Amino acid sequence: MQSYNPEQALLKARREFGEHGGVVPSIERSSTFTVMHPDTMPEIFTGIKGPEQGGCFLYSRHFNPTVDVLSRYLAAMEGTQAAVCTASGMSAISCAVLQLCSSGDHIVASKTIYGGTHALFESLLPQMKINTTFVNIADLDAVKAAITPETRVIFTETMGNPTLNIADLPALSAIARSRNIKLMVDNTFSPMIFTPHSLGADVVIYSLTKYINGASDLVAGAICGDKQFVSELMGLHTGRVMLLGPTMDPRVAFDIIQRLPHLAIRMREHSRRGLAIAGMLKGMGVRVSYPGLLDHPQHALAAQMCNQGFGFGGILAMDCGDRSTAEKMMEILQNEEKFGLIAVSLGYFDTLISCSGSSTSSEITAEDQQEMGLSPGLLRIALGYTGSLDDRMGQIKRAVEKVLGKDLTPPKE
Ligand SMILES: *Cc1c(COP(=O)(O)O)cnc(C)c1O
Repeated sequence: MQSYNPEQALLKARREFGEHGGVVPSIERSSTFTVMHPDTMPEIFTGIKGPEQGGCFLYSRHFNPTVDVLSRYLAAMEGTQAAVCTASGMSAISCAVLQLCSSGDHIVASKTIYGGTHALFESLLPQMKINTTFVNIADLDAVKAAITPETRVIFTETMGNPTLNIADLPALSAIARSRNIKLMVDNTFSPMIFTPHSLGADVVIYSLTKYINGASDLVAGAICGDKQFVSELMGLHTGRVMLLGPTMDPRVAFDIIQRLPHLAIRMREHSRRGLAIAGMLKGMGVRVSYPGLLDHPQHALAAQMCNQGFGFGGILAMDCGDRSTAEKMMEILQNEEKFGLIAVSLGYFDTLISCSGSSTSSEITAEDQQEMGLSPGLLRIALGYTGSLDDRMGQIKRAVEKVLGKDLTPPKE
C-alpha cells in the first residue's frame, strides 16, 4: 500500500478564490491580456516574464489563469511539479508523445490500451516514421527485449482497457530509467486509486472526460510531469501543445475545478460498488475480471501499488462468451432492468455498458483481440453510483440469470 494521499494533496492546493473573494474561482474568459507597459511584451516573448514571473499572461492558447488553476490542482493531486490541460485525452497523449518522439524514434507500448491510442500508435505515428512495438506489458522480459536504441517512451495504462490488467509501474520505471527512456502512463481509469508518478512514471496522462470530471458533459485532457517537460510542451517555438493547439476552454476548466472536490468521494463509491457487484457475479459463476477480486492475476500487485482508501475502481469486465449474448445482456440491463445505459465512456454517475470488441477496441484486429484476452462477448461495465446498491445487485443478478442461465458452472481456475 502506498503512503501518498492525493486527496490531502489536492485539499492543500485548493486555495484559489474568486476575483471578489468568492468561494468559487473566477472564470477568466479573455483570449488576450493587456500589458501595462510596452516593454513587458518583449519580456513575455523571451520568457523573462510569464504567469509565474509576476503573473503576466499573454494569450489564452499559451496560458490562461483559469485553466492554470486546474493544472495546478491536478499537479498537486498527482504529486508532479507541473501539469498542462488540453482539449481532450487524445490530444494530451498525442502532444506528449510527439514532444518526446521525432521521426525515427520508437515506442514500446502495452497491447491493452484505449482503442484511440492504439490507432494513433499503430496507424498515424508510422506515417511520421515513429514506430511502436506492442507488448504484453506484464511480461517484463518482452518489454526489455522490445527496447531499441531508438526507443524514447514506454507507454502503458495503469489499468489496461478493457481487460483491467494492472501494469507493474515500479518495475517498468526501473527498466525505463536504466535505459534513459521516459515512462508515460495513462491513468484515466484510476485517478486517486493510483498515482503513477509516486510509482515512478515520468509523465502521467488523463482523459478528464471520464472520472475526473465525472458528469459526461465535456471532453478534456491533461499531461502531468516535471516543470521542464511542461514548459517544453508550452514553448513558443516547438511546444506541441502550444503549436498543435488543443487548448482547453476556461469554462471547461471551471466546470472540472468545481467537480474535483468530490472526486475522492465518488471514487470510493464507484469502488465500493465495483467490489460488491464483481464479488456477487463471481459467486454466481460469471467470468468476471475486477482488480479487487483475489483471483485477479495482478490483485496483489494492485494492492501494493494503490493509495489507501480508494478501492480498486468502478470498472469490471464481464465475459458473456460471444457478441450476440453480450448484446442480449446489454439490451436487458438497459431496457428491462434499467441497470445502466448502453454507451461508451466511463466515470459517469450512471452505469455505462459497452461491448469493447465491437466498439471502443474495434480498431484492434480480431487476432490481436484474442491475443490480448479480449473476448468478443466482453462487456465493459463502468459502474455508476445512483440508486441503492441492493437494487443494482438485484437488477444485474436477474439479467445474468435470464441471459446466461441460473446454474453457471464456476470458471475453471
Ligand atoms: C477516453 C480515453 C482516452 C481518450 O480521451 P478523450 O478525452 O476521449 O480524448 C484515452 N485513454 C483512456 C484510457 C480513455 O478511457
